[in-house]
Amino acid sequence: MSGIAVPQFATIIATGPSRAGVGPAPLFFAPALGKAPVDAVAAPLPENCRMTYVVTDNCIKCKYMDCVEVCPVDCFYEGENMLVIHPDECIDCGVCEPECPAEAIVSDSEPSLERWLKLNAEYAAKWPNITRKREPPADAKAFDGVANKFETHFSPAPGEGD
Ligand code: SF4
Ligand code: SF4
Repeated sequence: MSGIAVPQFATIIATGPSRAGVGPAPLFFAPALGKAPVDAVAAPLPENCRMTYVVTDNCIKCKYMDCVEVCPVDCFYEGENMLVIHPDECIDCGVCEPECPAEAIVSDSEPSLERWLKLNAEYAAKWPNITRKREPPADAKAFDGVANKFETHFSPAPGEGD
């Protein structure tokens, strides 16, 4: 027998808009699997789609490390006095955000976070990976909420890692 075999359960039932704007994309339905219609090319991103979470300056000299305990993909990296998230490894699950006592973790879908996204990306490539919580600095509470910590206390030196 020659030619391309077409799965019998796959039936084109409609067309939908293409995200790339190059014409309608076919929608397929797989009744054998009991699945809803799926855009065969790419579904439009939902409006609240987030790309990553980032660590911001209130982590500096607080470094409680509660976040590393819950991350399912171990994408935190340790500086001397701050952690960062690797933006290419973060799966955007959001689990770490409420765990941070310093409220230093935010979604990069929030405005004005480009600076922190760049910092997280740069230092995630330079600092060692950390997956286990250690004792936070003794003066962590005293630095929680201090203004302009990046300008006054950021250290580019790497931490210990695991
Ligand atoms: S829990 Fe918050 S303050 Fe602590 S290391 Fe993680 S991001 Fe920094
Ligand atoms: S959002 Fe999820 S994957 Fe990303 S750093 Fe936080 S816990 Fe890890």
